[in-house]
Amino acid sequence: MKRRTFIKTTSISGMACALPPFIMLPFTTDYTTDELMGKADVDLFGEGINLRKEAYESFLEMKKAAYADGYDIKIVSSFRDFYRQEAIWERKYIQYTEDDGMAPLDAIDKIIEYSTIPGTSRHHWGTDIDIIDGYPKSSGDVLVAEKFEAGGPYEGLKLWLDENSEKFGFYLVYNNDPRRRGFKYEPWHYSYAPISIPMLAAYRRLNVLRLLEKEEFLGTEYFTTGFIKTYVEDNILDINPKLL
Ligand SMILES: [Zn+2]
Repeated sequence: MKRRTFIKTTSISGMACALPPFIMLPFTTDYTTDELMGKADVDLFGEGINLRKEAYESFLEMKKAAYADGYDIKIVSSFRDFYRQEAIWERKYIQYTEDDGMAPLDAIDKIIEYSTIPGTSRHHWGTDIDIIDGYPKSSGDVLVAEKFEAGGPYEGLKLWLDENSEKFGFYLVYNNDPRRRGFKYEPWHYSYAPISIPMLAAYRRLNVLRLLEKEEFLGTEYFTTGFIKTYVEDNILDINPKLL
């Protein structure tokens, strides 16, 4: 799918076409700061799925197609609000600084290998999911890259997704391009591009540093301008280029 198609299909739910051109708003103004930071109540669909409507409908189509080919797509994680991300962040921060005795900045670097700073997660948007195959037996942590590789329990589903997910609008976010910075390879994390592309465009207009300065979760006192700037460039923007 081409970016042009996304813009066309997501332009303020088609309403923009009915308005005279001079009052047509940019398509990104649809999303509030609270919504982009996971602090707003948004309508989510599907029990245990929790995606925005269009993403939910497309997910069901993809699930059905995968099922027909012998894979049972199971959602491990979907929408997560700011406060849930804040709890995850603080649990890890306490574990690394107090239990493991790490310096705060080292702890923060370690957290952001896999977890986002609250208010910056794509899981705040109702467009992104972490998925596995529900059929194979697997013990311990399921979101482990090796389990999606040759010989792993989710190898078959991963190959199926490589072949098919984009037909349903779902794209891998943190791919295995060795030149990519930011979050490590996450073969389980998919994003519904027709909504998440305009949401990311809106997110880029926010002053993330200023917004995070207002927060008081553990570790925020160590956020510097340079750190946040690099974090935005690497962890938010250095993703699969098809999602930019
Ligand atoms: Zn994820």
